[in-house]
Amino acid sequence: VADKEKTSSVAKIKVVVRKRPLNKKELAKNEEDIIDTHSNSLTVHETKLKVDLTEYVEKHEFVFDAVLNEEVSNDEVYHETVEPIVPIIFQRTKATCFAYGQTGSGKTYTMKPLPLKASRDILRLMHHTYRNQGFQLFVSFFEIYGGKLYDLLSDRKKLCMREDGKQQVCIVGLQEYKVSDVETIKDLIEKGSATRSTGTTGANEESSRSHAILQLAIKRSVDGNESKPPRLVGKLSFIDLAGSERGADTTDNDKQTRMEGAEINKSLLALKECIRALDNDKSHIPFRGSKLTEVLRDSFVGNSRTVMVSCISPSSGSCEHTLNTLRYADRVK
Ligand code: ADP
Ligand code: MG
Repeated sequence: VADKEKTSSVAKIKVVVRKRPLNKKELAKNEEDIIDTHSNSLTVHETKLKVDLTEYVEKHEFVFDAVLNEEVSNDEVYHETVEPIVPIIFQRTKATCFAYGQTGSGKTYTMKPLPLKASRDILRLMHHTYRNQGFQLFVSFFEIYGGKLYDLLSDRKKLCMREDGKQQVCIVGLQEYKVSDVETIKDLIEKGSATRSTGTTGANEESSRSHAILQLAIKRSVDGNESKPPRLVGKLSFIDLAGSERGADTTDNDKQTRMEGAEINKSLLALKECIRALDNDKSHIPFRGSKLTEVLRDSFVGNSRTVMVSCISPSSGSCEHTLNTLRYADRVK
């Protein structure tokens, strides 16, 4: 009963917006901060033109579970998003934290520190509260690019997915590292992030077209028997999504870009639908819509939790993308 109470006290879905500061490029172009934030709401000031070309400002107001302004640190982001979920991973919960937003809005800046902070807390629980109870922590890190899976901890080895009879997702060949200290986890995150961002062309371009998925799995040896493979208890997935503007690349002249754009568009739409279905306790979860949602299938059923961090630029030059991001987030909440 205590476990049930613990898990139910954490919201099923939490939608948080994070606004980053104006950067040098935006400042150099004299772009302005058009976003006012309040504790859980924000206002976007959009400048528009009348037919006679005079300017007027249209205000758009949005309300979320939390709005984090440009002064909020990564520690506070962790506190607001993943920290409350960590203890319930030990109670058979699967949880997912997404970063959504246009390229350059702060997704990677936001997501990268979270798994390390979470594993620090997980290890602390394993060494104290759950001492000698056979819990083990595993890390894996892969990306979905053009609808295909690649292992970021194994030189981008191509992977494939299959389902076992029990609706568990199995990614064949995915390297899973058993970890027991924070340093090792830090090295793995660095290694995977470097593999992702350099890509084959060495440009940041490529990482904006892929979804990066880092998973922390908690397993437990059966009846203290170390010779049998440990059983999955709970899982925490951190997803640095492809740039949301990439989903619009469906009319580009380049065929490859067009195909990737269509795939990204499909996955972001499917993701939204899956999260909404989760919130309404629907029995049908439309995870077949894309590779991303298929991979996350077991995190959308049963006792799951989702946190979405929508990252936005404050700048007038990004107004349209920012409104798109906020509308997407608004549909999910
Ligand atoms: P994305 O992953 O969405 O493309 P990044 O996370 O790479 O964007 O962020 C773009 C740039 O902005 C990076 O140089 C990053 O360090 C900086 N940045 C993003 N968010 C913040 C923030 N909250 N505070 C300070 N700098 C930030
Ligand atoms: Mg990024």
